[in-house]
Formats: sequence, structure tokens, C-alpha cells
Amino acid sequence: MALVGCGGFIGSHLLKAILERTRWRVFGVDLDPYRIQEHLANERLEFLCGDLAERSIVNRIAQYPVVVNLAAICTPSRYMSEAASVIRSNYDHPARLADACAKSGSWLIHFSTSEIYGKTSADSGLLDEDTSEITLGPVPASRWSYATAKLLTERYLFALENLRWTIVRPFNFVGPYMDFMPGVDGEGIPRVLANFSAALVRGEPMKLVDGGLAKRSFTSVHDAVDFMFCLFENDSQGVGQVFNVGNPHNELTIAELANKMRKVFAEIKGVDESLVPLPEVVDGALYYGRGYEDSLRRMPSVQKAERLLGFKALTPLDCALKESLSWFVDHYQIVAE
Ligand code: UDP
Repeated sequence: MALVGCGGFIGSHLLKAILERTRWRVFGVDLDPYRIQEHLANERLEFLCGDLAERSIVNRIAQYPVVVNLAAICTPSRYMSEAASVIRSNYDHPARLADACAKSGSWLIHFSTSEIYGKTSADSGLLDEDTSEITLGPVPASRWSYATAKLLTERYLFALENLRWTIVRPFNFVGPYMDFMPGVDGEGIPRVLANFSAALVRGEPMKLVDGGLAKRSFTSVHDAVDFMFCLFENDSQGVGQVFNVGNPHNELTIAELANKMRKVFAEIKGVDESLVPLPEVVDGALYYGRGYEDSLRRMPSVQKAERLLGFKALTPLDCALKESLSWFVDHYQIVAE
């Protein structure tokens, strides 16, 4: 199989699991192999440093019967500052790959995003893959550049004749190797768990955007990997379907997340919680830049993955948080000191 974005947060976990649990050969493509160093010598991995901007790479990828595409710019602050690149990376490139897969007959498993559900309100109910209405913000609100491009890609896959496709919509995956630490191995504002972890490691207050009232349900990346194996084993059920991958039991507000993370951090470091800085409230447009808007609740319906693939995310939030934050502390502690 081909794994595009095999060096990213989700891709690195999926690659590891495939190499450990199967005998499959993998053609892995990424711009940066830093998260997958340990696998580069594995004879079942052929790694190519590159991306979907190169047509020759797209054609090579489409020679494989199964293609998983995880490549994307998905750093929230870049949705405002680099909207054009975000759109190219999340529409032009995957559309080109989809064309090549339609021609070669490959099964394309495309990672989209739960962000395509758009500007959901605080009282929005379960988000369903096939029936939920979608409202994105106005064009000057560039926050929606990413969601718009991802949604157009979904529509393109759906519309292409002769393409065998499956779309995956992740709901706030968390785990080791998530994103980056700003100023150390990346720039901009990473997603909330990595950004809060970075603040805790630096001894700085976590920033609660617009009061931290928005809700998210977080999903362990290990559950996401298990979902992929359920999909691989049930391809006849999965082709032509969109799947939410999320854990509705792990919902909380971002302010509640910050409080939980303070506690977990104090436990990991063996210090009193009162020594960990309290979070502080920031204005979304000032923090992220003009054009930032938010979705206030993102709660997945997960019935379809259970019904068609027998998949259910099982990892409780506390376990996922502990694992992610412990990893972050170990990985970046020396850098921060
Ligand atoms: N957020 C926050 N502080 C941060 C980073 C994010 O309060 O340092 C909020 C953000 O405004 C949103 C939620 O946390 O309400 C989740 O943001 P994230 O960037 O992780 O991704 P999203 O779920 O919005 O795609």
C-alpha cells in the first residue's frame, strides 16, 4: 500500500502499526521523516521524501492498490495567514491524487476533517456523516479555508466516476507526536492539546481562546489506528462511505480541558497543582489573526463505523491525556530548560 503523509502525527502511528501487525510492504511519502526514523531501515518500507505537488510522485503512488492520504497543512493559525497554500494542499493535491487513483483503479482512503461540519453552534446535536447540514463562515473569515478545501475534495471524490474511495473525518485526535512545540520544531499555533502541553512545559499560562467555551470530543490516535484496521478488513463495507472517527464519551469544554491538563501535569511532575500557572483568556481574532471564527460544539455520531465496520473508540479521555502529555513532557523537557 501507499501511505502519503506517513511521517505526520497520524501517519507515523499508522505506519508503525502496519509494520508491527502485518507483513505488508509500504510505500511511504512525506516531506519529513523525523517521526519515523526508527522504521527507515525496515526492508518493508520504501520511503520517498516528497509531496503531492510533484506529478511523478502522484503517478507512482497510484500504482498501489490501496492508497491512504494523510498529507495536509492542518495547523490552525495557517488557515488565516497562508490560506492559499492551505487550499492548494487540501484541494489541488488530493484532487490530483484522486484522478490518478480513478485511472489506476486504486482504493483511495482520504483523510478529511471534522472541521467540514463548519460553524456549529453550542447546542448542535450529533454530527452525522450523511445527513447533517453544513454551514461555513463568510469568505473573509479565512478560518474556513481549510474546511472549504477539505469539503470540496470530499465532493470531488464523491463525484468522480470510477473511483473507489473512503473518506475519514477525524474528531480531534490526540496522542504522542501530535503537532509540534512552537519555536522548537514548528512555527505558528498548533492544535489545542499540543499548544496547552507546550505552555505547561514552559511554565506559561495556557491560552483560553474566547473563554474556552467551545466543546470538543477528543479521540486517542490509537483508536484511530484501530479504525483503519477495521476498514482494511471490511473494504466491501467501507468503499463509497464517509466515516466519522471520534469518541462521543470524551467531550468537554476547552476550559475544562485546561483544568484537567493542569492536574495531569502536576501529577506527572510530582508538584502541587497550585504551582502550575492558571489559564488565561485571550481574544480569538487577536490570538490567531483576523478571520478567526470557531465551531462551538463538535459531537460525532459514530453509529456508521460501528454498524458497517464493527469499530468503536474505547480509550477514555484521561488515559489519552496522560499518555499525550507524558510524551510531550519527556520529548521536549530538555529543550524547554
Ligand atoms: N484553543 C484554545 N487555546 C489554544 C488552542 C486552541 O482555546 O491554545 C481552542 C480553539 O479556539 C478551539 C479549540 O481549542 O475552540 C480546538 O482548537 P484546535 O486548534 O485544536 O482545533 P479545532 O478543533 O478547532 O479544529
